[in-house]
Amino acid sequence: MAAAAVALAAATAASRRSWRHLFRWRVPSSRAPCGLVCSTRGLSGGNEYDLLVIGGGSGGLACAKEAADFGKKVAILDYVVPSPRGTSWGLGGTCVNVGCIPKKLMHHSALLGSAIRDAHHYGWDVAPLAQHDWGQMAEAIQNHVKSLNWGYRVQLQERKVRYFNMLGSFVNEHTVRGVTKAGKETVVTADHIVIATGGRPRYPDDVEGAQYGITSDDLFWLKKSPGKTLVVGASYVSLECAGFLTGLGLDATVMMRSIPLRGFDQQMALLVTDYMEAHGTKFLKHCTMKKLEKLEDNRLRATWTNHEEGREEASIFDTVMWAVGRVPETRSLNLEKVGVKLHPGSQKIMVNASEATSVAHIYAIGDITEGRPELTPTAILAGKLLARRLFSQSTELMDYDNVPTTVFTPLEYGSVGLSEEEAEKRYGQENLEVYHAYYKPLEFTVAERDSSQCYIKMVCLRERDQQILGLHFIGPNAGEVIQGFALGVKCGATYSQMKRTLGIHPTSAEEVIKLWITKRSGLPSTITGC
Ligand code: FAD
Ligand code: NDP
Repeated sequence: MAAAAVALAAATAASRRSWRHLFRWRVPSSRAPCGLVCSTRGLSGGNEYDLLVIGGGSGGLACAKEAADFGKKVAILDYVVPSPRGTSWGLGGTCVNVGCIPKKLMHHSALLGSAIRDAHHYGWDVAPLAQHDWGQMAEAIQNHVKSLNWGYRVQLQERKVRYFNMLGSFVNEHTVRGVTKAGKETVVTADHIVIATGGRPRYPDDVEGAQYGITSDDLFWLKKSPGKTLVVGASYVSLECAGFLTGLGLDATVMMRSIPLRGFDQQMALLVTDYMEAHGTKFLKHCTMKKLEKLEDNRLRATWTNHEEGREEASIFDTVMWAVGRVPETRSLNLEKVGVKLHPGSQKIMVNASEATSVAHIYAIGDITEGRPELTPTAILAGKLLARRLFSQSTELMDYDNVPTTVFTPLEYGSVGLSEEEAEKRYGQENLEVYHAYYKPLEFTVAERDSSQCYIKMVCLRERDQQILGLHFIGPNAGEVIQGFALGVKCGATYSQMKRTLGIHPTSAEEVIKLWITKRSGLPSTITGC
């Protein structure tokens, strides 16, 4: 203990020395309540910073940068604990390093494979069975991600936001202790503290040998192809990853214990998995993993229970990837010390409409918060709005309704608003009008691609102008399609207004504008011709 205290004091003093030249507004150091030497005591309210953000991901960076743009003195702590397999990355959080960005680029790489297969129909003299080089793709994507890491550091520097590459934990409600990789400690004090520490993939605790599996934290940083892969789980992460692995020519299997894409419109979700199944992804339905064993050649033998057949089954894979949800990063924060309340089930932080936690001056945004969507744009806007409320007299709250989203499966699924099931629950089936259509994207025709799952559904209120409650689109570029319509839905657009909107011809998005067949009518819902 004594040695640790000496090391800690030395580290803190060293850190104080190394900071001194950075600030012109030098203030004498003082003692933090924990007894550590505190180099950051200072200005307003006796705290060095106006704002300290813990977590440099989508939400934390947005909040810190916005506050700095108001001339506030801001610090941000970000630290990546390596995955159990030892994978680590730079500043920017989940989305940039192990989420949206590498995922979308790998998805794009897979789509290019489909384009190559289409190409000869359009006159290109290319071999339809071109081989994919994982190493080359991964290196290019990883280099792009590293450039983004660097870009974030530059953006912080430009705004004079102090960046600490340290793991933060609370000492008291205005004081956070940061620890570097090398174990050096520093104490930072701030008037306001925002927790934006996100989450990490969960490993199941009831599967023998679970540690032999990887997670999405590792997949995007693999230098070599994962080979024959089993992905466990059936939500966004699982289906997207299994989808692009299949598209890259790998043998990919999804193990699904219940339904796909829980929370999404289930008619749409099943079309998504139908398409995947028809295009090479294997599905083990109603199955749960029992154990993983590592074989001499490093491959993995997976044993699972098939609940439908009532028997145990096994197979051998090169890689098993867990995509069974995420654990909020609240564990290392010492929140019990300051009394920030967690949801007893999810262990996420409880916040009110203004993102305030149970402790004054401590806020939380993004994936770490209970009941919010786990999406980058929501984390970013929540962070910006919070900074504006704290430092610029704004009263605008984050609106979590009608959040658009897209699942980047081989055939993409974009949606905004309510699923048909949720709309029925809220308004009753008799009060809804559901317009729908199967359609054929023009680019599928010449290439003779199967469009059986290209489907659009608009869920509206039945009365008067028929306000649109939910819009669901499966097809190419679903994210691009839904993004525009999201504005309409957010503004309370009605079916009548949609019918007065002109399409852009020839696009898949115009099929939304053309919807006229109701489910109630029972008419065939397949559109042919222009
Ligand atoms: P994060 O981005 O997770 O950032 C938290 C940061 O805090 C991390 O850098 C973490 O290391 C750090 N940290 C944690 N604890 C501490 C501590 N004690 N001290 C210091 N630092 C700490 N969303 C979309 O909108 N579109 C997508 O296409 C999409 N794809 C995804 C694909 C995958 C595979 C995954 C896993 C997620 C995807 N998401 C997507 C979700 C999106 O990545 C998250 O919603 C978003 O990153 C959340 O941002 P955040 O700021 O809350 O947390
Ligand atoms: P989710 O929590 O959404 O889903 C977890 C999945 O794992 C479910 O299918 C669940 O099945 C299954 N599961 C849970 N425990 C087990 C178990 N023990 N054995 C087998 N299966 C299990 O997690 P994700 O990691 O997929 O996604 C996290 C969040 O990240 C999403 O909610 C989303 O907001 C965000 N994200 C967004 C993306 C995008 O915008 N495109 C892409 C990827 C992620 P069950 O339904 O039976 O519980």
